[in-house]
Amino acid sequence: MSISYLRPIKCRITVFDKLMICRFCSNDVFIPYEMLINVEQPGVGCLYGHDLAVCQHCGEVNHFSDPSGFDNDKDIFVWALKQYAVDEDETDE
Ligand SMILES: [Zn+2]
Repeated sequence: MSISYLRPIKCRITVFDKLMICRFCSNDVFIPYEMLINVEQPGVGCLYGHDLAVCQHCGEVNHFSDPSGFDNDKDIFVWALKQYAVDEDETDE
C-alpha cells in the first residue's frame, strides 16, 4: 500500500504528534516528496515508499520513514504522519 498521502506543499509534519525538525538547522517547515522505488515486477505491490522532506530554511533533504501501521492492541490502523499547511509568508517567524 502506498503512503503517498503527503502533499508536496510547504508544511509542518508531525510523526505521532511529534514535530519533525530539520536535522541540519532545526527548522520545522518542509516540502515533502515521496519517491517510489519499484523493486521487482511492476504492479505486484513491490513499491517502496521513500519519503523525503526538503527543509525550507536550509534546503537540505531530510529522509524520514512512515511508521504508520496496524496497532494490534487497539485493533486499528494508526497513521503516524500528519501535515499542516504553512502559509507562504509565515516561513520566517
Ligand atoms: Zn534545515
